[in-house]
Amino acid sequence: MSELGKLEKDCMLCRSCELCKTRKNVVFGEGKKDAEVLFVGEGPGSSEDEIGLPFVGRAGKLLDTMLELIDLDRSKIYITNMVKCRPPENRDPLPAEKDLCNIWLAEQIRIINPKIIVCLGRIAAMRFLGKDFKISRDHGKFYEQDGVLITALYHPAALLRDPRRRPETFSDLKALKAEILRVCNSTYKEVN
Ligand code: SF4
Repeated sequence: MSELGKLEKDCMLCRSCELCKTRKNVVFGEGKKDAEVLFVGEGPGSSEDEIGLPFVGRAGKLLDTMLELIDLDRSKIYITNMVKCRPPENRDPLPAEKDLCNIWLAEQIRIINPKIIVCLGRIAAMRFLGKDFKISRDHGKFYEQDGVLITALYHPAALLRDPRRRPETFSDLKALKAEILRVCNSTYKEVN
């Protein structure tokens, strides 16, 4: 079993925070095990909790469309969330839950070793880029941390709520593709 597979197996048994009591499934993540591009959202919603995979509801369908716009699909990237179990009634994960769950995300990042991390939404962006990060101001910018490029897009759920943000996101996606082509070796191999 791969190192990531072993981590997933351990994560499935995690009962470190209260979210284990209300979850149906742990949503560990999905995609290429050595992806150069890692997408990180906030936490699973009800569809994800039912199925055990990230971004499978309406927001997930929009994420797939966003990926298609830049010739990507889930087989070429890895997608996960900051917390692996659904917060009840779609509330935000609590700081303690995010802190406790960070052990899994940190290990995923260590093992996958991505060149680019794409935060989906404000909460994930603040985890990587600090509390002062403002999604309306800072989306689409690239930051370098320890040799890894980090950027943030509007969360697909936010784009469903406010479609006026979509043109900005389209520009961000085009910039993301340019950065992937610049720093990644294999992500676009099959299509270019
Ligand atoms: S949210 Fe994270 S820390 Fe809490 S039980 Fe689930 S996997 Fe464990």
